[in-house]
This record gives sequence, C-alpha cells and structure tokens, in this order.
Amino acid sequence: MTFRPVLDHALDLLRAGNARFVAGTPQHEPYGPRIAALAAGQHPFAIVLGCSDSRVPVETIFDQVPGKVFVVRVAGNFVNDDNLGSIEYAVDVLKARLVVVLGHSNCGAVSAALAFVRDGTVQRSRIQGIVEAVAPAVRATRDLPGDWLINAVERNVALNVQALIRGSPIIAELVEAGEVEVIGGIYNVGTGVVAFA
Ligand SMILES: [Zn+2]
Repeated sequence: MTFRPVLDHALDLLRAGNARFVAGTPQHEPYGPRIAALAAGQHPFAIVLGCSDSRVPVETIFDQVPGKVFVVRVAGNFVNDDNLGSIEYAVDVLKARLVVVLGHSNCGAVSAALAFVRDGTVQRSRIQGIVEAVAPAVRATRDLPGDWLINAVERNVALNVQALIRGSPIIAELVEAGEVEVIGGIYNVGTGVVAFA
C-alpha cells in the first residue's frame, strides 16, 4: 500500500487535466523544451486504453503534454494480445502505475455490436472482428433496466479492466501488490467530462 499515494496522484493528474479541458483552460505549456528533454526517454505516469473515436483524443481530454500518458487506442477500447503487450511494456519497462480503460458515450463500436446482437447486423470485412470483441458486453447487458447502449459501454469497460488483469501475469502481480491500479472511465462526448469507475 506504500504506492497508493502515487496511484492517487496519477488519478488526480488525470482528473485535474480533464477539469481544465472541460473548462476550456488548457495549460499551454510550451512543447519545445519538453520535446528536447524527452529525447532521453519517457516516464509516463498513466496508461490509457481508449477508443479510436475522433471525439476522444486522450491527451487532449486530459490536457496532457507529450511524455505524460502512454496511449493505446482501438475502436471499442478492448484488450487483445497486441495492445495488452503494449500496456505490459508501459507497466513493466516504463513503470507507469495507473491503467485506465476509457470507454465513451455514443460509441460506434458498441452501437455496431448492439446491432449485431439485437438484429444480426454483420459488418463488412475486419470491422466484424471489432464488433465480436465488444459483443460480450452487449449480451451481458441485454436484460438490464435503462439504456442498453450506455449499459453496454459501461460493461465493456468493466470487462476489459478484468481482461487486462486476467490476461497479464505482470499486471496481475503488481495489482495484487498494490503497486499498479487498473480502473475504468467513461468519457461523455456531450460534456467532455470523464467519470471514473
Ligand atoms: Zn468508440
């Protein structure tokens, strides 16, 4: 638990950055000196597995400059072998200590998965692979009260938080030791606010 303040600090940095983004008051730190300093190496404080949706640019919505956040993006923000390897690298080698799986409202990947589960709508070519990766969250929320899409977005985040830990002995061990935290968040595309789970 000695690492807890570090984890809280990382989450505080993301919360504060998102608040600046929502308020329209980004820090505007000049990039020049930072870019030169980063040439020697990177020490990101957080990792974000986000959706590719153009409305959810991770560094922008958390008001973070280069070198601060290690970002992996795929439509539907789900864990697969390659992006888990990227995340393991950022944890194991770069020593980032907070991992956020970031879903968002009005997600097209989750909407497509919902159409697949509900109506059998199949997407063309490799798009269907994305749909099927997200479909378990849609199936799991079929009978819940409330909005199916929102419920599925939230469940997709929760399932992939679990998948990250289950799929990685490196991350599981550090989570168990209290040295790494894996959490979920939902970005509201209408307000710009990130709600952390
Ligand atoms: Zn999306």
